[in-house]
Amino acid sequence: MIVRVGSNLERVLDAGHFAVTAEVGPPRGPDPAAVRVKAGLVRGIADAYNVTDNQTAVVRMSSIAAARILLDEGLEPVMQMTCRDRNRIAVQSDLLGASALGIRNCLCLSGDHQKSGASGKLKGHPGAKNVYDIDSIQLISIIKRLRDDARQEGGDPIEPAAPFFIGAAWTPLSPPQEFRTIRLAKKIDAGADFIQTQAVYDVPRFAEAVKKARDMGLTRRVAILPGIIVPRSAGMLTYMKERVPGVEVPENLLARMKSASDAREEGMRIAVELIRAVKEIPGVRGVHLQAIESEGVLPEIAERAGLLPRPRL
Ligand SMILES: Cc1cc2nc3c(=O)[nH]c(=O)nc-3n(C[C@H](O)[C@H](O)[C@H](O)COP(=O)(O)OP(=O)(O)OC[C@H]3O[C@@H](n4cnc5c(N)ncnc54)[C@H](O)[C@@H]3O)c2cc1C
Repeated sequence: MIVRVGSNLERVLDAGHFAVTAEVGPPRGPDPAAVRVKAGLVRGIADAYNVTDNQTAVVRMSSIAAARILLDEGLEPVMQMTCRDRNRIAVQSDLLGASALGIRNCLCLSGDHQKSGASGKLKGHPGAKNVYDIDSIQLISIIKRLRDDARQEGGDPIEPAAPFFIGAAWTPLSPPQEFRTIRLAKKIDAGADFIQTQAVYDVPRFAEAVKKARDMGLTRRVAILPGIIVPRSAGMLTYMKERVPGVEVPENLLARMKSASDAREEGMRIAVELIRAVKEIPGVRGVHLQAIESEGVLPEIAERAGLLPRPRL
């Protein structure tokens, strides 16, 4: 049985459109205006807007609260949820709360390690306990059970069911790569409806990974949306290459950013080229746009890449 939850992202994919999601990172403080300002920057460029969950293990406004603020602003959120900070009781309680608040999309993640929060000027919380009572695949199956069977993980009934369009992450180029495709298949078996990937800069290698997924029949069962993270500087690309597992950055892209007289413009050009290139890969059904702390560039990128206007369904 295919359960429909009625989210806009689900409708856009069901209708066969090339979907667009865009990331809105919550602030490191409690000011709702900070979320509203970002909502204003990206309004209208995507079918749904991802709200990160304490990304890089830095404490931020909860993704549930920020997702609800987006809803109030008329933007459909994809609430992100990691397994790092909650056991299965807290996870389910938060999911029921999010459902009560009208949130219909959830991206299930393991979460960045708590040590990654100490970086640059930030001290983070490297001594925090990571929970991992469940992993991302179990999280997917818990949400599917809340949705399809109206039952909690332990078997107790809920009334009514909690309708979520279920997302998962894929880092196809992280070694060992064979393991990544198997893990993708497990996420789909567990109930993932859509996949958002780690940043793609090396399109030929990403295309090979998608081909493997296609050969296994996975792209027929799930919508794959490659991650496009807009390069801001050569330093940022170098960081991605050296510090983020599974991100491959070709030398020519690094050289372009290093020699660019206008790094903002060059980063935007690269993002547009990447979007056009991944769109050609059979099995790719959308893109996930991210411009970390510079969301204002996304509308122009979406326009130049031919992603606008978004369908109204
Ligand atoms: C689109 C996207 C959004 C993200 N948003 C956030 C966010 O909001 N907050 C945040 O904190 N992080 C976020 N991350 C980071 C992400 O959680 C980490 O990159 C994580 O390592 C991969 O997440 P996953 O859910 O795909 O991992 P999983 O597929 O669950 O795997 C996690 C890691 O553990 C390894 N692993 C899993 N099971 C085993 C096992 N049994 N034995 C050994 N190793 C194992 C996997 O190989 C992998 O390296 C995001 C990543 C992506 C791609």
